[in-house]
Amino acid sequence: MSIEKSQAIVLKRQKLRETSVLVTLYTKDFGKISGVMKGVRGIQNKSVNFLEPFTLCEVVFYKKKRGGLYTISQCDLIDYFFEIRTDYERLVHALYFIDLLDAVTQIEDNNNELFELIYESLKALKVLKRPAPVKSIYEVKTLILSGFKPRIDFCISCGSSIEQKAKFSTKFGGLICYKCFNKDSLSHDIFKGTLASMLHIEKSNFDSVWRLNMTNRVKGQLSRILDDFIKFHIDKNIRSRTFIDMIV
Ligand SMILES: [Zn+2]
Repeated sequence: MSIEKSQAIVLKRQKLRETSVLVTLYTKDFGKISGVMKGVRGIQNKSVNFLEPFTLCEVVFYKKKRGGLYTISQCDLIDYFFEIRTDYERLVHALYFIDLLDAVTQIEDNNNELFELIYESLKALKVLKRPAPVKSIYEVKTLILSGFKPRIDFCISCGSSIEQKAKFSTKFGGLICYKCFNKDSLSHDIFKGTLASMLHIEKSNFDSVWRLNMTNRVKGQLSRILDDFIKFHIDKNIRSRTFIDMIV
């Protein structure tokens, strides 16, 4: 592979030796990659310090041989998201965002829209007063872009259109009609406002989506539904998620 250059969000960082680090990056142009950045002549390369979780950098990298790790030869800082790091509530949300992105992606699966989503969500987290709606918006859009979209337009069990009562089934991953209620005893009622919010998030672009207004009960239900859905379908133990649960 030739030498490549791309913007990237840092997902994980692990010290290897005194002067080198192993990092996982979500790049704008190549998807998720893992690579090693070495220090220079025994002195730690200063740009290694930019490779902190959720930092936005421009990286230069190449692969020495097939199947091996990438070598990251250069890293220039674009945004350190200082405002997020100095506020605990925002910090734990940002750490959860990158952990969720890591959980839904495979190495070298390229998805430019996922890069845009994490970047826009970090920018929103930086400027908006309340991180909670940003989290639900980020989760819904992540699920859609990574192929885990909750189905709310028809009964996910039998395919019927939803005309009468419907419940939300975490197990099936969407709405089920009244004829299918007995197929999932844990399915539960869902507010119209929660469904409308999910649709609004799906349809809205980044210019308008952050203006979503939800009542407290809709906000709470949407958050619980997404939490259950992600635990069931993606990962039961996203560790950073527990830090959010401790503060809200
Ligand atoms: Zn049905």
